[in-house]
Amino acid sequence: MPWKSTLARVSWDFSTDPEFQEKLDWMAQFVRTEIWPLETLYGELDFDSLMRAVEPLREAVKRQGLWAAHLDPELGGQGFGQVKLGLMHEILGTSPIAPFAFGNAAPDSGNSEILALVGSEEQKQRYLQPLLAGDLRSAFSMTEPGTAGSDPTLLQTSAVRDGDGWILNGRKWFSTNGSIADFLIVMAVTDPEARSHQRASMFVLDADTPGVTIVRDVPTMEHPWESLGRYGNHAEISYENVRLPAQALLGAQGAGFLIAQQRLYPGRIHHCMRWLGVAGRALDMLCERALYREAHGSVLAKHQTVQNWIADSAAELQAARLMTLQAAWKIDTQGVQAARQDIAIIKFYGAKVLHDVIDRALQAHGALGYSTDMPLEAMYRYARAARIYDGPDEVHRASVARQILRGYEAPADGIPSEHIPTRRDAARLKFAEILEAVTAND
Ligand SMILES: Cc1cc2nc3c(=O)[nH]c(=O)nc-3n(C[C@H](O)[C@H](O)[C@H](O)COP(=O)(O)OP(=O)(O)OC[C@H]3O[C@@H](n4cnc5c(N)ncnc54)[C@H](O)[C@@H]3O)c2cc1C
Repeated sequence: MPWKSTLARVSWDFSTDPEFQEKLDWMAQFVRTEIWPLETLYGELDFDSLMRAVEPLREAVKRQGLWAAHLDPELGGQGFGQVKLGLMHEILGTSPIAPFAFGNAAPDSGNSEILALVGSEEQKQRYLQPLLAGDLRSAFSMTEPGTAGSDPTLLQTSAVRDGDGWILNGRKWFSTNGSIADFLIVMAVTDPEARSHQRASMFVLDADTPGVTIVRDVPTMEHPWESLGRYGNHAEISYENVRLPAQALLGAQGAGFLIAQQRLYPGRIHHCMRWLGVAGRALDMLCERALYREAHGSVLAKHQTVQNWIADSAAELQAARLMTLQAAWKIDTQGVQAARQDIAIIKFYGAKVLHDVIDRALQAHGALGYSTDMPLEAMYRYARAARIYDGPDEVHRASVARQILRGYEAPADGIPSEHIPTRRDAARLKFAEILEAVTAND
């Protein structure tokens, strides 16, 4: 019997409709033959060269009707829903460049969802339409170096009323793509006295607004070298007396948390599916290696430890995939709120599976796996961040435990409800007649 909180009735259908499967097949082939080769040149390409290389790929994606598929049809997307999007992201996740070529790379995809959800007509025209067309780039600027990103109620960046408009002050970091962004979505405290989840609001502003300074791109495990203005870098940004017009407010005043949640929940499905794409590729490498590398009298595939790695990886990937698709299905059928627990579960579980599968594949390759001659070391560094961004593991685990515990209560008498002597006494009473008959027959 499943535990209490999952007793809701569900119906199951694991098939993909044939028409959509054709699209997925096209995508898989396209990503493999047209995008994977570009990865090997990625380090040599500056952003402009990358754009030149990706432009014809984007045109091909648009011709297939797969561009910016995360949005509803009235915004130029396909309105696929989260299950189909998830299946797409599994394929796109196999390459860091693929989401960019398909117009649904983070953070632009999430930012376009925010603009679609709460943007005014003017904001949609100015930012959303060109973002969807691929003519603008964006960043989401919420995390601060001085406060815990895992508890955004502590945010300190402030936006204070100034006539009709606002004055923004604060420092953010890890604003992905901040140094190449044309516009920024910034979360700032507007109502310091309000309840903790109603203190902050979102603003959208041009990146060249006076007072906005890109301090640096923060070198990370993924990109350990100093660089500025590369796609995928994470910017530290100072906002100093930035004057914003009233129209910069995105959605309602005080709705920052609500909007952030609406952006992050479906985004986590996409992250998890992309991780499956990466981990699946690592498993392919593990299996290939197992079949040709000989050590201690046989190929690795004949050693039980390696067999266990392959079997465990396949089982974990399958579990993570089904869990993620189920969370996606719940969003599609019951809405984002109903899927909260499922999304939190896949966020920390998926990040662990990603890490563990890559780790085994890397180990099976020995020194070659550790070298940059294989993509595994880069995947490994990429995987480490998955346990931190979009909420660290610990926060998701705590949230899952809290939600599960709501379905339980402590026994009033302090005796566990499964306590066998207590249950036996009760059973003796309930089945007294049968017990008496048994005794009488002795
Ligand atoms: C690759 C990458 C990309 C990112 N992109 C963006 C972006 O585009 N925009 C943006 O605004 N931010 C971005 N971030 C920032 C990210 O959202 C934060 O790093 C994350 O929310 C954690 O915040 P923090 O780094 O301040 O860690 P902290 O909040 O200081 O947490 C540190 C550690 O404390 C522990 N911890 C926290 N809470 C609990 C708890 N309740 N129980 C037990 N332990 C706990 C966890 O181990 C956690 O890792 C990105 C981060 C990375 C790594």
